[in-house]
Amino acid sequence: MKVIIIGGVAGGASAAARLRRLDEKAEIIIMERGEYISFANCGLPYYIGGDITDKNALTLQTPQSFKTRFNIDVRVKNEVVKIEPQSNTITVRELDSGVTYIESYDKLILSPGAAPIKPPIEGIDSSKVFTLRNIPDTYKIKNYINEKKPSSAIVVGGGYIGVEMAENLKKIGLDVTIVELADHLIAPLDFDMAADVHKYISDKGVKLILNNGVKSISDNGTSLTVSLQKGEISADMLIMSVGVRPETALAAGCNIRLNKRGSIIVDPSMKTSTHDIYAVGDAVEIKNYITKQPDFIPLAGPASKQGRIAADNICGIKSEYTGTQGSAVLKVFDMTVAATGLNEKSAANAGIEYDKTFIFSASHAEYYPGSTKMSIKILWEKESHKLLGAQIVGFDGVDKRMDVLATAIRFGARAEDLTTLELCYAPPYGSSKDPVNMIGFVAENVILGNVKQFFPTDVASLPRDGSVTLLDVRTTLEVAKGKIDGFFNIPLDSLRENLDKIPQGKPVYIHCHSGLRSYIAYRLLSGYGYECYNLAGGYRLYEVVINQRAIADHNCYDCK
Ligand code: FAD
Repeated sequence: MKVIIIGGVAGGASAAARLRRLDEKAEIIIMERGEYISFANCGLPYYIGGDITDKNALTLQTPQSFKTRFNIDVRVKNEVVKIEPQSNTITVRELDSGVTYIESYDKLILSPGAAPIKPPIEGIDSSKVFTLRNIPDTYKIKNYINEKKPSSAIVVGGGYIGVEMAENLKKIGLDVTIVELADHLIAPLDFDMAADVHKYISDKGVKLILNNGVKSISDNGTSLTVSLQKGEISADMLIMSVGVRPETALAAGCNIRLNKRGSIIVDPSMKTSTHDIYAVGDAVEIKNYITKQPDFIPLAGPASKQGRIAADNICGIKSEYTGTQGSAVLKVFDMTVAATGLNEKSAANAGIEYDKTFIFSASHAEYYPGSTKMSIKILWEKESHKLLGAQIVGFDGVDKRMDVLATAIRFGARAEDLTTLELCYAPPYGSSKDPVNMIGFVAENVILGNVKQFFPTDVASLPRDGSVTLLDVRTTLEVAKGKIDGFFNIPLDSLRENLDKIPQGKPVYIHCHSGLRSYIAYRLLSGYGYECYNLAGGYRLYEVVINQRAIADHNCYDCK
């Protein structure tokens, strides 16, 4: 059997290695247009920022190492320019010599990936404008910084790669501004969870311009002037990071079925509509694991797994890709941001009725030094209670909690099932009730009706005419530092002796700092017949959401 793989990075390299492990006799050829195979795309921003200093660390395998270990013929700087399914052949151009040649295949795997989107805006072709996909792009950016010594950069697009680039450019001393069209960074998060990231990244000195887009770029020789939908800014360089587009012109050229977005349509075995041709990775349409609808979620994990699945099927092992849920994690300076599954926007778009809750929990037992707080949000389907998605923003231990939640979602857990998980505990690592258990307890209380919630965005519309009681149960010290207009204070520990100050027969809206003490107050007051509502996420979430919303709506640093 002769298998040709187009693209030698995440999906392609994974397919090739699995093929060899399953079939020692197969002839396996990787055609890679670039100079490198199996490189660490995900590490590229950290080379620019200097965390990774060794160039060699960016390449996990070389053509030689693939030959030695796997007996795979890797042809770098060989671009496949045509596929002819009628004859099971491809046309390849050797990029150094310009010579083209034909290769035949029994099976073909496409893993051509996705290319950074370069919107058709005036000035985008300036030599001071960069995109980041591969090692040559990385060197281009690094060399520009070393040679031209820019002092400022604009990053257009606040997704994972944009935020990583902003951090890394800031770390090497540039003055960095992120321009984002949406009202918040990191699309898999909801605004309420992104608000913490906005505050943190701004405190680190990265400027944010949200709700705004780039109209045109003008290169005046020494710097760039960028005209925005609202205002104008300037900088010495610009990173365009507004997403990626599946690179599927080759597939389109031989009538492989594509969707409207240009992604290759595959079946669960990763087979395309054309005989003997499989496709994997960023170039394919995937099924969203939660909604079961077609989706585009370009990530390394899914690409590698799909490569393995294509290889399995080629070698006669029945293996199916069951969908992508979008589990992702991001380092933002010392902060960690992670998400999996649906957020509120995607759940609403899918027409799913959901409920949600928040907690603010310690990463490990607070009496053991070094614990930090993390903010967790989960969504579940109202009727079935099945978990739909999770978002965490914090510092220590975020990734492990997200991996537990991602696993729970993968196995169809309901929100209340999180209460039953027995997770590792010793004080340096966690708590006897892990944050994952805690959010399960809160969700269970919501589901059982033990607590009715209200949210930061509801606060402004609560009546201030005395028809409801607005109660803040934090300590007087906390209240002195900031309060919500219209809420009066009775600290939780003196609530029982002050019940006469809370009129009977009126709903009581309660908040504390994070939602825990207000829940205790809620249960206490319920015991005396009050109808109560608890502010999910507490004053902490309210404050950051309201402040950051105001900034997001009005901020345009340096815009003229
Ligand atoms: P790619 O890795 O893009 O590989 C496709 C290859 O095919 C390319 O090398 C290309 O040159 C080659 N090719 C295309 N057409 C042809 C042709 N006609 N002939 C020959 N060769 C061709 N994902 C995560 O999960 N976590 C992260 O932290 C993360 N960070 C990232 C950071 C950056 C800067 C980037 C760019 C991506 C990041 N990703 C991350 C995304 C992840 O890298 C991709 O999802 C993954 O690499 C997709 O694998 P792929 O095989 O589909 O495509």
